[in-house]
Amino acid sequence: MNNEILRIAIQKSGRLTEKSMQLLSDCGIQLQNGKRKLLSPATNFPLEIYFLRDDDIPQYVEDGVADVGILGENVLLEEQAQVNTVLELGFAQCRLSLAIPKNEIYTGVDYWEGKKIATTYSNILKKYLAEKNIKADIHAISGSVEIAPSIGLAEGVCDLVSTGSTLLSNGLKEVEVILKSQAVLVANQQLSPQKQQILAQLLFRIRAKQAAANNKYILLNAPNDKIDEICALLPGMKSPSILPLRNSNWSSLHSVVQEQAFWDIIDKLKAAGAEGILVIPIEKMIV
Ligand code: ATP
Ligand code: ZN
Repeated sequence: MNNEILRIAIQKSGRLTEKSMQLLSDCGIQLQNGKRKLLSPATNFPLEIYFLRDDDIPQYVEDGVADVGILGENVLLEEQAQVNTVLELGFAQCRLSLAIPKNEIYTGVDYWEGKKIATTYSNILKKYLAEKNIKADIHAISGSVEIAPSIGLAEGVCDLVSTGSTLLSNGLKEVEVILKSQAVLVANQQLSPQKQQILAQLLFRIRAKQAAANNKYILLNAPNDKIDEICALLPGMKSPSILPLRNSNWSSLHSVVQEQAFWDIIDKLKAAGAEGILVIPIEKMIV
């Protein structure tokens, strides 16, 4: 009998928390105690949720205290933990960048030779500078990196950026991108076969949700003599469904289009004579 439980570590309170919880909820997983205790068992899936600081997640997963975890790739690389990255989750997108006071003139990566750089990402920065053959003074601090240049602590910073507004409001400009990051699902390298099976079930649900989010269901009316032309524009899951309309010269076509290709296809469909185009979100998609 399979009575094992998969223990998943997510961030207790921070930028990843809400999306991580949403992901589990989108997978139909309900938690026993709504309030965030350290540990929260699911009621309808063999899963237990551990709420931790994101920096602790790689080590917990490596050690097997948690079986899987959700965290930013930036933290994963910084902590250098021996875990498997199982799936990119597409949220918490940001980049780790080098920035300097906005009035300084940036001369390229050699600019950093001999400079003092404040960061909470010493390991990633050390590796980057070594690859570029640059010797700089890394000043490791644990927070508020962006104020380091204005208080004279460093000449530049290596910090996370999403919109760039925090840098800007601290009089800094982004000059090099070291790493692009997003949230990922990681797993312990020695999961038991039972836990692997639970993880596979969880991945199946996450992928169904991801596929649904990337696609739209499209319905349209087409003159019968244009069906071939219009079908060629609709790369559905297999091929479009075609239903007769009461007006015998027209049919209704149903298909699935990718979110990205969406506007491009709409214009082409209209040009080919499609009318009454409806685009509907998909809840789950099993491919
Ligand atoms: P904790 O208390 O858990 O250690 P934290 O302060 O280290 O939290 P958050 O600021 O909540 O972490 O960020 C968590 C993750 O969100 C980051 O590691 C990164 O992957 C992602 N992220 C996305 N955009 C940004 C951003 N603009 N600034 C910082 N982190 C971002
Ligand atoms: Zn952290």
